[in-house]
Amino acid sequence: MSLCSATVNAKMMAAYNGGTSAAAAGHHHHHHHHLPHLPPPHLHHHHHSQHHLHPGSAAAVHPVQQHSSSAAAAAAAAAAAAMLNPGQQQPYFPSPAPGQAPGPAAAAPAQVQAAAAAAVKAHHHQHTHHSQQQLDIEPDRPIGYGAFGVVWSVTDPRDGKRVALKKMPNVFQNLVSCKRVFRELKMLCFFKHDNVLSALDILQPPHIDYFEEIYVVTELMQSDLHKIIVSPQPLSSDHVKVFLYQILRGLKYLHSAGILHRDIKPGNLLVNSNCVLKICDFGLARVEELDESRHMTQEVVTQYYRAPEILMGSRHYSHAIDIWSIGCIFAELLGRRILFQAQSPIQQLDLITDLLGTPSLEAMRTACEGAKAHILRGPHKQPSLPVLYTLSSQATHEAVHLLCRMLVFDPSKRISAKDALAHPYLDEGRLRYHTCMCKCCFSTSTGRVYTSDFEPITNPKFDDTFEKNLSSVRQVKEIIHQFILEQQKGNRVPLCINPQSAAFKSFIR
Ligand SMILES: [Zn+2]
Repeated sequence: MSLCSATVNAKMMAAYNGGTSAAAAGHHHHHHHHLPHLPPPHLHHHHHSQHHLHPGSAAAVHPVQQHSSSAAAAAAAAAAAAMLNPGQQQPYFPSPAPGQAPGPAAAAPAQVQAAAAAAVKAHHHQHTHHSQQQLDIEPDRPIGYGAFGVVWSVTDPRDGKRVALKKMPNVFQNLVSCKRVFRELKMLCFFKHDNVLSALDILQPPHIDYFEEIYVVTELMQSDLHKIIVSPQPLSSDHVKVFLYQILRGLKYLHSAGILHRDIKPGNLLVNSNCVLKICDFGLARVEELDESRHMTQEVVTQYYRAPEILMGSRHYSHAIDIWSIGCIFAELLGRRILFQAQSPIQQLDLITDLLGTPSLEAMRTACEGAKAHILRGPHKQPSLPVLYTLSSQATHEAVHLLCRMLVFDPSKRISAKDALAHPYLDEGRLRYHTCMCKCCFSTSTGRVYTSDFEPITNPKFDDTFEKNLSSVRQVKEIIHQFILEQQKGNRVPLCINPQSAAFKSFIR
């Protein structure tokens, strides 16, 4: 995992300062309440050397390559049947019922097999216009587990590229899980941003009578911030800056779409070997509720990254909960340890007030009475924010200043993703990202040509009105089935699972 060396580019900085940041320039002035005034960011770089993370300790960073470099694994892979087929092959079979062997055909009752065969036959007719194509793929191993599903690394037989295959299991168990998966699927197909994971493809579904699982193909990412943080690999301040820049860049886009992620944690921030970062796992994401009288579920966000307003039982919360999570992750990147590692939600809140001090009544105005009473019963605490300087030698004034704007108790006073991106701490991350990591700018013989918008937003917003009319499992199943077929009306040959492949048999286990 390496960073390119970014060099000064006055043109780019001029573009940024002249373009998006009339507002940004203004923001720099009123961010400086808690800490001494900061000088303007340096436009020159002290770090011209390349920053490699040690490959020797890269189990966390290159699990996929390590695996495929093993001769034994490669041989096994070559011997195994292809797991992915182009769509004119058999569509995947329904999963075996609990207690049955995982081999789909092996244990299925004869009747079901016959029906399945008929369904397959009928299905083939719909796809005969696709060209015949049969390529072997290299089955691989699971690379991660999201909130709802397993992710595997596979090879797309159409172009030989390594991609990630995510299985969304138990989709049609009940209406709640149907809706959740459909929402996530719609989001994955909606997203178009380099720092947000999106669907490259959805595998061709079988006939609706055998439609039990959904498989989504996404870009393959070798690691995630959790694996990187707990690994012994050194993280330079350039790494921290370019990671934080990309997290906020992706989050600004999500929030502009009206989407709250609600479960931002290091494990949901995927990183490839070039340090490109993508926010993933939208299993808990939803559209922001602007009506404050509407109650929202409390079952969100892994506890360590949970915002104080959620811990205090606020019935309504905003995009600021995601910024809190990112503040915690920023501190974790600097200190290489979890910032607020508590055993219970109450202790979680206590650790937060240890750092920020006892919140004002105003800051707790949306809290439930019990939580407010807990705070007021306890001792009055003074803020101890200067301890953030002890996180690491990389915790400079600029870093701590931005961190303090994210870790604000009152969600209405917490910085937004857009404003955080205008903070001088992120200027070097922006420079590095757009000099050698992004897809929005390009190089010519005369130099780098920068995009006109470094941190784009989306318009229109993500529309979740489709959820209002979902009323039964069968109905949602039909709608999802139709939705997937519509997504495939592109020019590519649709993909499906080969249920006979050894990789598939272990995949469905
Ligand atoms: Zn760019």
